Amino acid sequence: MFGSILAPTDGSEHAARAMEVAIDLAVKYDSRLVVLHVAIHHGTAQEIMHALRGSTVPPEIQREIDRLQNVSAPIPVGGARGKRTLSQKLEQYVGDFIVKRAEEYARAAGVREVTTQITDGSPNKRIIEAAEHEKVDLLVMGTRGLGGIHGYLQGSVSQSVRSHCRCACLTIP
Ligand code: ATP
Ligand code: MG
Repeated sequence: MFGSILAPTDGSEHAARAMEVAIDLAVKYDSRLVVLHVAIHHGTAQEIMHALRGSTVPPEIQREIDRLQNVSAPIPVGGARGKRTLSQKLEQYVGDFIVKRAEEYARAAGVREVTTQITDGSPNKRIIEAAEHEKVDLLVMGTRGLGGIHGYLQGSVSQSVRSHCRCACLTIP
């Protein structure tokens, strides 16, 4: 039924819950799973610590996170937040960590074909493009993500993707 499934992740617990659903369906339907992360340029220390939860962070990366302590989260529009706050080194470390963790879970659960992608740009646009480019049958994402402190019920990325994507889209609260 679902030949391929796209699971975009920002490393949040919301995205992890959505990833569990995506993995479960991929096992059931023997689907190809595409794990997509759009690099985080603009994040607070709190968001980055959340994304790296449960892991031991090397000291030079921890120093970079500490530098973000005074950064407050700007209001996002479709996941785009203006000025860059993360160094390239931190952004890359976080991105690699997020997709590797998802890939490991998926392989351990028995998904036969897993591909990972890290791209750059507006998360909502990149997710829609990937869904079309990869011709996926289903998109599974969190209703909210790392920026879950703004008080809205739905994040700006999931809202935008839901209203623009042409395939089935499951958002997991
Ligand atoms: P906002 O970003 O508007 O403050 P939020 O962070 O709570 O709100 P969203 O960003 O809409 O919520 O996140 C919803 C889902 O979208 C996430 O669970 C994840 O599946 C996906 N997502 C968000 N950002 C990215 C990203 N940078 N790369 C890949 N997927 C993402
Ligand atoms: Mg977000």
